[in-house]
Amino acid sequence: MNKRINVTSPSMPPYEEYIEEIKDIWESRWLTNNGAKHKALEKELCKYLDAQNITLFANGHLALEIAITALNLKGEIITTPFTFASTSQAVVRCGLTPVFCDINPDTLTIDTKKIESLITEKTSAILPVHVYGNICNVYEIDKIAKKHNLKVIYDAAHAFGEKIDGQAIGTFGDISMFSFHATKVFHTVEGGCLAYKDKGLAKKLELIKQFGIENQEDVTEIGTNAKMTEMHAAMGLCNLRHIDETIAKRKLLVQRYFQRLAGNKGLRLYYNQKNVEYNYSYFPVLFKGVSRDLIAEALAEKSVFARKYFYPPANEYKAYSKMFKLNETPISKKISYNILTLPLYPDLTFEEVDFICDIILSVI
Ligand SMILES: *Cc1c(COP(=O)(O)O)cnc(C)c1O
Repeated sequence: MNKRINVTSPSMPPYEEYIEEIKDIWESRWLTNNGAKHKALEKELCKYLDAQNITLFANGHLALEIAITALNLKGEIITTPFTFASTSQAVVRCGLTPVFCDINPDTLTIDTKKIESLITEKTSAILPVHVYGNICNVYEIDKIAKKHNLKVIYDAAHAFGEKIDGQAIGTFGDISMFSFHATKVFHTVEGGCLAYKDKGLAKKLELIKQFGIENQEDVTEIGTNAKMTEMHAAMGLCNLRHIDETIAKRKLLVQRYFQRLAGNKGLRLYYNQKNVEYNYSYFPVLFKGVSRDLIAEALAEKSVFARKYFYPPANEYKAYSKMFKLNETPISKKISYNILTLPLYPDLTFEEVDFICDIILSVI
């Protein structure tokens, strides 16, 4: 095979469908600022995510920063270092301090047994991540948050449309952030949303995302610009029509990977939570007794580009030099240094999965 296989490839709706969807934008000339597509997408997402309230944003990262601002959080936020850079960067950019809690090696999500010992009088919230679509221990997190009067914001960037025990994932905690970046299971090219229970937050979120401008006379919040455009919302409306098919295709590919790799002593696979309806967003593999970098190189030699997601752990970022203790989260570190995310996207073929697995098995 000479074709380049990347870790992901964005799902696209049929070209004609998108062209049809954006036709009325040409007629109305309403390009951004809460237009018809934007309103329609918010409504459709409320249904699909079973959310009480949805606010759209230009991207998931700004949504996360604005969630922190809107809840008036101060001081310290407990989160995990095993995640995409956005999670801890949002905390730091809002002027707060991330406090890193280690992860549970079975789900790679925050280890709820280790949260309470990290709570101080400065702690204002917990920011757990549903890493790779593995769901956090939402029940335990809820108990801890209530007991200590903390807010909970979930980084649900990987968990679009997922459910635990039949309950939609965006209904847990105070706010959940979903990313609609091009590489995510559902996307609007760039984009994101917050799902939340308290309707009282809606106005504040709307204000912050458009410069704090309430009306022609009044600017009532410290705001930024994080609006989603009509072209992006139109892409979302198209992609949402195909989402179930997208997830079904991903599931078949994950099953193929499992057929080829499960049971091998040199590696560990995930997707092990029986009560979770997954969206099959990523295919992480933890290597044991064989170097992750060696596997990545062998794949790259054959034009397969797996990614070292998530590496390095956030407490090792150069940008945070000397802010965190070395080795404060040993499980996150070990996993971050030994995990590789394999290619997974709806257009990937079974032959390509076999090709990838053959290379990995030959190295092991
Ligand atoms: C993608 C992602 C984000 C940020 O989303 P953007 O829409 O790219 O800004 C945040 N957290 C995690 C875990 C992500 O994977």
